[in-house]
Amino acid sequence: MTGRLQDKVALISGGASGLGEAQAKLYAAEGARVTIGDIQHEKGAAVVAAIEAAGGAAQYVALDVTSAESWAKAVEATTSAYGKLTTLVNNAGIFHPGGIVDETLAGWERMIAINQTGVFLGMKTASDALLASGNAAIVNISSLYGLIGSPNAISYHASKAAVRLMGKAGALEFARRGIRVNTIFPGQIKTPILADITPEQDAAIKAAIPMGDTGDPIDIAYASLFLVSDEAKYVTGAEIWVDGGWYAGQ
Ligand code: NAD
Repeated sequence: MTGRLQDKVALISGGASGLGEAQAKLYAAEGARVTIGDIQHEKGAAVVAAIEAAGGAAQYVALDVTSAESWAKAVEATTSAYGKLTTLVNNAGIFHPGGIVDETLAGWERMIAINQTGVFLGMKTASDALLASGNAAIVNISSLYGLIGSPNAISYHASKAAVRLMGKAGALEFARRGIRVNTIFPGQIKTPILADITPEQDAAIKAAIPMGDTGDPIDIAYASLFLVSDEAKYVTGAEIWVDGGWYAGQ
């Protein structure tokens, strides 16, 4: 590794699993000190142990992204341990299916609370520390489903489309203040979030993807690495879809 994130201090929500875990490990391997915030405490601790075993620096904090108080504690734990915060990844998210007819109000509210309000609270709570660092970056993880519709995921589409516009709005708000804000739109990536998808659904999705396969978490991590590194110092308000060509055909 080449130290592309030397001197960076990152807080990654949902860092105990899937895309967040891949980003945490890659960031640490590139020299960042990383706080993993999640509600899966054992898995988060295991990711920290793996990072430390590889020679990196990381800590785990309990973080429920729906709670402003929890966010404040996670930011404080990061600046206390590492002296600053330069990098925020709003990655935590959930998925459940359900169209307008089937989705419940409780299901809708839970999805919006985690996927949408969680991103707002993350950017809001971390903004003072990010501004203080003088050279900061936020990456928000939306979804291809924040760009295109489908018949059976109304809450998820709503939450991820909101993340898209929060990224643009944040980029403009902070453009002259030292925080870049960019958004990644994963296509279908092999993580536990897809646990409930049937083999038939999986096969249908792969057939619809121009490159013929779902992606790996590291594919998202490499895009994220670029966006939070100083290599992307002139990149803000950008949208990168990492999807095997899926969006190109829409
Ligand atoms: P994942 O289930 O492996 O990881 C999500 C993580 O978020 C988990 O560790 C979970 O504990 C955490 N989380 C859930 N609720 C939380 C809360 N209230 N507070 C803090 N953490 C919480 O799934 P993933 O695929 O790695 O998902 C990461 C992000 O990528 C999500 O925002 C998801 O919507 C998005 N995404 C994933 C895919 C895909 O195909 N895997 C596609 C598009 C977008």
